Amino acid sequence: MIDLDKVRADTPAAASGVFLDSAGSSLPPRQVLDEVVGHLRREAEIGGYLAARERAEDLEAGYGVFAELLGAEPDEIAFTDSATRSWLAAFDAVPLGRGDRVLITEVEYAGNAVPILHRAREVGASVEVVPSDAAGQVDVAALRELLDERVRLVSLVHVPTNSGLVNPVREVVDAAHEAGALVLLDACQSMGQLPVRADELGADLISGTGRKWLRGPRGTGVLVVRRSAAHRLRPRLVDLHSGSWVGPNEIELREDARVFELWETSIADRLGLIAAARYALELGVAAIAAEVADRARRLREGLSALPGVTVRDIGERQSGIVTFTVDGLPADLVRDRLAAEGVTVTSTYASSAVLDMARRGLDEVVRASPHYFIEPAQVERAVEVVSRCGR
Ligand SMILES: *Cc1c(COP(=O)(O)O)cnc(C)c1O
Repeated sequence: MIDLDKVRADTPAAASGVFLDSAGSSLPPRQVLDEVVGHLRREAEIGGYLAARERAEDLEAGYGVFAELLGAEPDEIAFTDSATRSWLAAFDAVPLGRGDRVLITEVEYAGNAVPILHRAREVGASVEVVPSDAAGQVDVAALRELLDERVRLVSLVHVPTNSGLVNPVREVVDAAHEAGALVLLDACQSMGQLPVRADELGADLISGTGRKWLRGPRGTGVLVVRRSAAHRLRPRLVDLHSGSWVGPNEIELREDARVFELWETSIADRLGLIAAARYALELGVAAIAAEVADRARRLREGLSALPGVTVRDIGERQSGIVTFTVDGLPADLVRDRLAAEGVTVTSTYASSAVLDMARRGLDEVVRASPHYFIEPAQVERAVEVVSRCGR
């Protein structure tokens, strides 16, 4: 059980409104804020190099913290400046040539689809879409049909940005591995709200962000690279941190996941990200997942009962992302009317998940994403505000 009063006390803004946008950019707890602001102050006092040296042990410990959070080893963790950067670094390192195949799912995120299609065109690889089953999640039987030895990569979104779905990961990984394909898991919307454990899910590469459900600073990301997959990757965007210049014509690349990091980074934000992961671990990921599921269920039930409101979530298993539309009202207008009454939600558009939104005939949805620090009464309040927003 999570102590709601405590987590709300750690999150001063939790009381000043109904914040339902943890899938966008959540409210960090004061432990994160103190770490970031404190380090920036320290940099101003003694300079960035000395300030970083003071925190060297904590920075190194961060790999262990994320290893614990993500069911991996410390040398399988890399820190980056966003989930997208993590994802791109990993994708770019997957060897891909003419005639190779990449499989994506119907809920693929635009931020992944653009680089996949771009690179596939450049090298002469094909990109194919694995169909979904009746519930809306990836159809594992259909995936098995599509897999062969030319499939280099399966790109899987764990929790899409624009629907309540949670995709089955283990089944996809098992099928892909039987065919010899790597799996790159986009865990941007699951990390921090659901258990995301590399040892249980089996994915070769996992990308995640700080700013969403983990409640870390913006401009932070993490990448898991399993040791078992590392030898199959060809890191290309390397610098003097990823490798060493050991002779006039010689370099040596790191062998751990940090080959995907660059030397320069915001130390303040990194410390904030580590603090966010520690905070999540202290609460317990299972406890977080239970509370998020409870708030999302209350919200879906409340919204479903409203005339003129349609909940748009799909999937057998659902996440803390609740999507809906209000008859006759554009999503942005709903968002703005809710904002005027202190309820923060976002709109998401077809452009962020083209295949999924097109198959469901949707141009846009309103997205509400309650975290564990939201009180049940605040969920009721949000539903009440939605009920009035059409009038
Ligand atoms: C937000 C999001 C991303 C990108 O995260 P950044 O922090 O912007 O890099 C990737 N995948 C999904 C599914 C997302 O919702």
